[in-house]
Amino acid sequence: MTTDTQNTAPCGEEWQFTSLASAPPIDQWDDWVELDAKAWPRKVERHYQIVPTICFNCEAACGLIAYIDQADGRVQRVEGNPHHPGSRGRNCAKGPATINQIHDPQRILYPLKRVGRRGEGRFERTTWDEVIDSLAARIRKVLQEDRRTEVMYHVGRPGADGYMDRVLQSWGVDGHNSHTNVCSGAARLGYVLWAGGDRPSPDHANAKFILLLSSHLETGHYFNPHAQRIIEAKMAGSKIATVDVRLSNTASMSDYWISPRPGTEAAMLLGFVRVLLNEGFVNRDYVEAWFNWEAFLAARYPEDDRSIDQFLRRLAEIYDSFTPEWVASECDIDAQMVVDVAREIGRAGTAFSSHVWRNAASGNRGGWQVARCLQFISALTGSIGTKGGTALASTNKFVGAPFKKPAPQKMWNELLYPVEWPLSHHELSFLLPHLVREGRGKIDTYFTRVYNPVWTNPDGFSWIEMLKDEERVGLHVALTPTFSETTLFADYVLPMGLATERHDLMSQETHAGRWIGFRQPVSRVATERNGQKVEWTYEANPGEVWEEDEFWIALSWAIDTDGSLGIRENFESPYRPGERITIDEYYQWLFENSVPGLPEAASAEGLTPLEYMRRYGAFEVDAELLEPHNNPVSADGADRGDDGLWRRDGAVIGVDQGGVPVAGFGTPSRKLEFYSPTMEEWGMGDQALPGYIRSHVHVDELEDSPNAFALVPIFRLPTLIHSRSANSKWLCELSNTNPVWMNVDDAARLGIADGDLIAVKTQIGRFVNRAWVTEGIRGGVVACSHHLGRWRTKDGGGTDQWGAATVDFKSTGDGQWNLRRHEDIGPFKSSDADSEAVWWNAGGVHQNLTFAVQPDPISGMHCWHQSVLVEKAREGDTYGDVEVDTEAAHRAYQKWRDSTPECTFPNGIRRPLWFARAVKPHPDAYRLP
Ligand code: SF4
Repeated sequence: MTTDTQNTAPCGEEWQFTSLASAPPIDQWDDWVELDAKAWPRKVERHYQIVPTICFNCEAACGLIAYIDQADGRVQRVEGNPHHPGSRGRNCAKGPATINQIHDPQRILYPLKRVGRRGEGRFERTTWDEVIDSLAARIRKVLQEDRRTEVMYHVGRPGADGYMDRVLQSWGVDGHNSHTNVCSGAARLGYVLWAGGDRPSPDHANAKFILLLSSHLETGHYFNPHAQRIIEAKMAGSKIATVDVRLSNTASMSDYWISPRPGTEAAMLLGFVRVLLNEGFVNRDYVEAWFNWEAFLAARYPEDDRSIDQFLRRLAEIYDSFTPEWVASECDIDAQMVVDVAREIGRAGTAFSSHVWRNAASGNRGGWQVARCLQFISALTGSIGTKGGTALASTNKFVGAPFKKPAPQKMWNELLYPVEWPLSHHELSFLLPHLVREGRGKIDTYFTRVYNPVWTNPDGFSWIEMLKDEERVGLHVALTPTFSETTLFADYVLPMGLATERHDLMSQETHAGRWIGFRQPVSRVATERNGQKVEWTYEANPGEVWEEDEFWIALSWAIDTDGSLGIRENFESPYRPGERITIDEYYQWLFENSVPGLPEAASAEGLTPLEYMRRYGAFEVDAELLEPHNNPVSADGADRGDDGLWRRDGAVIGVDQGGVPVAGFGTPSRKLEFYSPTMEEWGMGDQALPGYIRSHVHVDELEDSPNAFALVPIFRLPTLIHSRSANSKWLCELSNTNPVWMNVDDAARLGIADGDLIAVKTQIGRFVNRAWVTEGIRGGVVACSHHLGRWRTKDGGGTDQWGAATVDFKSTGDGQWNLRRHEDIGPFKSSDADSEAVWWNAGGVHQNLTFAVQPDPISGMHCWHQSVLVEKAREGDTYGDVEVDTEAAHRAYQKWRDSTPECTFPNGIRRPLWFARAVKPHPDAYRLP
C-alpha cells in the first residue's frame, strides 16, 4: 500500500508512508490502518485488528492472518502470516479464498435437525442445547450397554493433531475412522517397513537432485510449503525429475519428465537402484551402519559370509534383472533416461530428496512397494535425514501432549481394521458399507466430520444405500462447514468453523525443522482482546457456527453427568479441580508444559505462552533437525544385547553404533529394514524386500480391446481441494471442468475429437464426460481430475450452487442407480451480488461413483486407477450421466477381499504391535478371539 512520497490526508495532516511491505508489522496488528481502495480518490482510513490463524483448506496448515474491520467486526480479507515457519507468509489460492467461505451466502449458520425421511434432505433449525442433550443421552446408553464399537467418528481431513484420540479414548470406544486408505495408506506402509515412520519429510530446499512422483510443485500434500522450497532449490541449481503420466505444471518445470506406464513405477525405481549398485554410487559406510543386512543374510543366505561386501554382492544379484533395457520395455520409457536419472541421483548423494504420497502409490495394486522402492534409493545413497535428503515425518512434526491421557480402549472394531488386512495403514474406511452389509458390525451413532464419503469415496451409491438404512446406521451426525452430498443423508447437520472460526493445533513436516501452528476463531480472539467475555466460540462466530474442540468438551461432559462413566475426569480443568475445562485452559496447559522453548520465547516478550500463540499464530520448535537416528542415548543402567540393541529394564532404548547407543530408527531392530522380518513372520515373506508388483492396470491386465485404457482418476488441481471448495466463488470460477485427458493418437484412432462427449465404462458402471485431446498425456492412458462433479438435488439439498449442478438420482431397488443432470451451474440469487454473475456452467462429472472398491491385498489402500473402456457417447447420453450397479460393486469387493494373503498372525495377535494404529488400543485388544 505504501510509497515513499508524502500526501495530504483529507483532514489536512501529512501522510507519512514507508517503503513497500509484504505484510503489516506485528506491532501494528492491534490497529492496522489502510486506505479504503474503493473510496479512491478520497483517502478514507480503515482500521483493522489482525489476528493470525492457520488455513483449513488442506493439510499443509499454512499460516494466515485475518483482517477484522474494527467498524463492523467483519473479517475483510485473509492473507499469509509471515511469522509461520512452514509457509513463511505465502499461500496458494485456497488460503485467501477462505474469505469466500466465510461470507458464502449458502453456508450453514445454525444446527439443523432432519425432518421427513432420511435422504430427503429436509432440515429444521434446532439448538446446540438440544443437540448436546440428545446425543449425550444416546451415547450414554451405548456405553452403559457396553456396545463400544457402535459409536463411530469418521474424519476427512483432521486439521488437528491428536485431539480426538483423547476424546474417543475417554469414552472407551474403538470408533476412530479416517480417510487415510483413500489417500496415503499405501505409501505409509512402504515407508513404515523401512524406518518405522510412515511419511517422508524431504528437505527440498537444500537438495541437489529432487525426484518427485506426482505433481508436487502444484498439488503436493504440503503443497505451498514444499513448492516454495522446491523452487528455492531449483534457483540454487538443483535439478528435478518428475514422474507423471501427465505433462503437469510440475513436469513442465522439471529437468526430466518421465512418463512410465501407470503401475510400473516400482520397476523404474529398481532400475535406478541397479545403476546405483553397479556404478559405485552406493554409500557403503551408511549401508553398513544402518541396513539390517546381517538379519537379511542370516534369514535368506545362512551359508554366506556375514560381511557388507557379501551383502552388496547379493543386492546386485537380486536386482540384476532390472536392466535399463528391461525397465524401458516394462515401463515404456527411454532406457538412457533410466541411466541418466540414476546417475543424477547418485551424484547428489546425501542431498537427494524425494516424495511420493498418492500418485503411483495410491493408484495401483502393490503401490506400497513404490514407496518402499523410492525409500530404497534414499537408503542406498545415505540421504535419509540428511541436509538436502529425506527425513521422516516423525522427525519434523511436533505433537505436544495434552494435560491428561485416558487409558487405551480394550476392544477391537472389525469395521475399522478387518482381520484380512493386518498391515493396513490405516482403517479400511472406504469398505464400510460392505463390511456392514456382511454383518461385521453396526453403527448406533455415526459422526462424519468434515467428510463427504458419498462423493469422495469410490462406490458412493453403496454409501447412500448404507446411510439410508436406519438399521445399519442408527443416527448420522454430520459435523461440517458446508452442505455436501453426504449431509443429504444426515439426521443432524452441525455447522463447524472454517479456518477463522475454530481452535486446532497442527504441525506438519514441511522442511527440516519443526513448528506448531495455532488455528483460532479470530472474531472471538478480537472480541476478547476488546475486553468482552465469550463462553463458547459460537457466540462470536457467524450465526451459531461452532468448533469441534468445544463441542466435544460439552458433549463429553453431558454424557457423563455424574462422573460414573470415568469420562468427566478427562474434561476437568487442570487449574480448577472439578470444574469443566475451557478451551483456553486446554491450550494454556499444553503451551505451558508441552512445547519446548515456547514458555521462554513468550516470557522474553512479556507474554504467557497462550498469549504468544494467540499473537503470532505459530512457533518454531526447531529451526533445523538433521540425522536424529545418530542422536546419542544415555547408556546409564543399560546393556547391549547380542542383537545390537541397548536395553534398560528390558525396554529397548537404542541401537549400537561403534560401542555406544544411539537413537536409530523406529523399527524393531532400530535399523533400516531392507529385509522386513515382520512381513516374514506374518506369512508375507515373498514381499519382505523392496520389489515390483504388477498393477491391476498393467497393460497385460487391460481388456483386449482397442477401447481399453488405464484411467488415472486422482490428479489434483492446485485451486480445488477435494470436497471443501465448492463454497468458494473464486475457486469455482478458476476451475470448473474436469474433462478426460486423452492422447492425440488414441483420440484419432477412436475417432474422438477434442470436446466430444465420451463414455467411460468401469467395472461397475459408466460415466459420460467430454474429451480433452492433448499431447500432454502418454498414450494408452486417460486421466480425469477427481475434484469436480459436485452435485445437489432439485429440492435444494446438497452442495453449494457455486460448484454444483442440479441432478436427479434414483435406484430401481436392485442395485441399479442412475444420476442425470437436471440443470447446469448458473447464476442464482443470493445476498452476494456475484452469484448473479456466475458464467461457468459445466462443473465437471462425478466419476468416483462408478469405481468399485479395490483394497490392496496388503496395504488395504484403495487402488484408485481403473481399467476402463472408452468410447464415443451413445445417443441419449448427456454430460454428467452416471450409471452404477451396486450389486456388481459388492461382488468386486468380495473378489479383492478374497485376494488377501493367508497370514500367520504370530502369537495370535491381529496386527504387529509395533505398527502405528489410529487411536491405539490396549495390547489385550490385539488378541484374536
Ligand atoms: S497449501 Fe494452500 S490450501 Fe493448503 S494450507 Fe497452504 S494455503 Fe491452505
